[in-house]
Amino acid sequence: MKGLMQNAPLMISSLLQTGADVFGGSEVVSVVAGEGVVRHTYRDINQRAKQLAQALGDAGIGMTDRVATLAWNDHRHLEIYYGVSGIGAVCHTINPRLFPEQLIYIINHAEDRIIMVDPMFLPLIEKIIDNCPKLEKIVVLCTAENLPDTVLDAVVYEDFIGAFDGEMEWPEFDENAASSLCYTSGTTGNPKGALYSHRSTVLHALMAGTPAVTGTLTGETMMPVVPMFHVNAWGQPYYAPLVGAKLVLPGPKLDGESLYNLIQAESVSNTAGVPTIWLNLLKHTREVGGNLDSLRNVIIGGSAAPGAMIREFEDDYQTNVIHAWGMTEMSPLGSAGVLAPHLMHSTSAEEQFEMKQKQGHRVFGVDMRIVNDDEEPQPHDGTTRGHLVVRGPWIISSYYNNHDANDKAFTKEGWFYTGDIATLDENNILQLVDRSKDVIKSGGEWISSIDLENEAVGIPGVVEAAVIGVAHDKWGERPVLILVPQDSDNPPSEDSVRDFLGTRIAKWWVPDLIAFKDEIPHGATGKILKAELREEFRDALAGATD
Ligand code: ADP
Repeated sequence: MKGLMQNAPLMISSLLQTGADVFGGSEVVSVVAGEGVVRHTYRDINQRAKQLAQALGDAGIGMTDRVATLAWNDHRHLEIYYGVSGIGAVCHTINPRLFPEQLIYIINHAEDRIIMVDPMFLPLIEKIIDNCPKLEKIVVLCTAENLPDTVLDAVVYEDFIGAFDGEMEWPEFDENAASSLCYTSGTTGNPKGALYSHRSTVLHALMAGTPAVTGTLTGETMMPVVPMFHVNAWGQPYYAPLVGAKLVLPGPKLDGESLYNLIQAESVSNTAGVPTIWLNLLKHTREVGGNLDSLRNVIIGGSAAPGAMIREFEDDYQTNVIHAWGMTEMSPLGSAGVLAPHLMHSTSAEEQFEMKQKQGHRVFGVDMRIVNDDEEPQPHDGTTRGHLVVRGPWIISSYYNNHDANDKAFTKEGWFYTGDIATLDENNILQLVDRSKDVIKSGGEWISSIDLENEAVGIPGVVEAAVIGVAHDKWGERPVLILVPQDSDNPPSEDSVRDFLGTRIAKWWVPDLIAFKDEIPHGATGKILKAELREEFRDALAGATD
């Protein structure tokens, strides 16, 4: 017997329409390069997204057509999220920090017909346009007076949408229709596309916008620092209107001082981003002797949140840290570190701190397993390590037009291989041990680069740390530690680093080589580019015998 409920499709547009209908007065505050701070309400954004939808329809864009963006977090990007998918077209967010060859690959692979770009990225488009034959139109995200000189035949966004009145209802169609497309950063090989649907995006928003996952409450002021070109800014642009949150979109300037000032000026209460961003925010806050009084929750993900960072937020500024984990292929949220009430009540502050350093509990909708090399499920005992596999309604069932990538991505039963090595405990709290490609295999045993990095960033005088496995004649691979010192003229001594680590990790984990650099290379989303470091240090242990 079937249930007797109506089968209304889950539409992304309904999230913004609800924001406009119910929380219409809530603000969307944007920092826009060349325009300063710009204020709208959800009502305005819904209206402008509809104008965009009409303009796109007029330009011949319809169901399944791909519309690309190359843009920072601001109100126009938000309008594109909704305006494009609202008419059944696919919003393809592109990371502007990719190399030109990768941009060309992605634009051609996605067969984008229109690209909408921030003015500052026009030179990039000028460079690649001849290699993107399917691109028909370039829309520049600005007003006519802010359009820079360009040889391109480009349209100004405000003119593009200004010709339409926004008088329309959002259409309804199959909730399984594609809505948006995001390529993984592609630290190895060509980027791979995750193609989201209306259904997956709405379900992810319903899950993510809850207190048990992101600490979200109605009346929140939310600031996604994680870029909107990276996995839907972890879903915030979709769940913010659903809960009536004031949305603060920080634009291109993501340095500590700019973010600090924005948090103060707009009383931001909930924000999300990668650890590197928060290192800079904390450094600035410390330097000016400031406070983070408005900030109730900071969501940290993308790479592991160092213990020292968690302590500083919580002890010095009373900001709760929610350590989250996810992937482009998972829309992205898979786990979040909001402690379950029974654990809050039965554990000491120190035990809670230990738990917060892990990647949190699996969220509703995501099933997780640890499997061995033969895909056999392993116990959830907090110690058995294995390949982390997942399944759920916002996890890819296949990469977009990429059969080669699909071959290795799924278990026989169809679970998605995350590429992470992890443990799960009896409370289903996830702890990442490493990326399967980053774990260091020394004499047949695993050394976790993440664990080592977490300890190394606690060394006094160290700002950032990266650990890579380097070929070693005797052990196969040994760890090399690369440190960024606070003061490059006065780095900590190698002996003090060894002494510090020696008391915290197994002796055979202590790195064979400690190198200092002024900067460690980062990808567009703040992740350390270990491939570059591996290349640089490839022969660093050549000839070493012990
Ligand atoms: P890409 O795979 O393109 O680098 P993603 O953002 O999809 O970009 O990366 C997902 C990966 O990032 C995860 O599989 C995991 O290895 C890492 N990651 C994400 N969040 C965390 C976290 N909280 N702690 C440690 N690693 C994380």
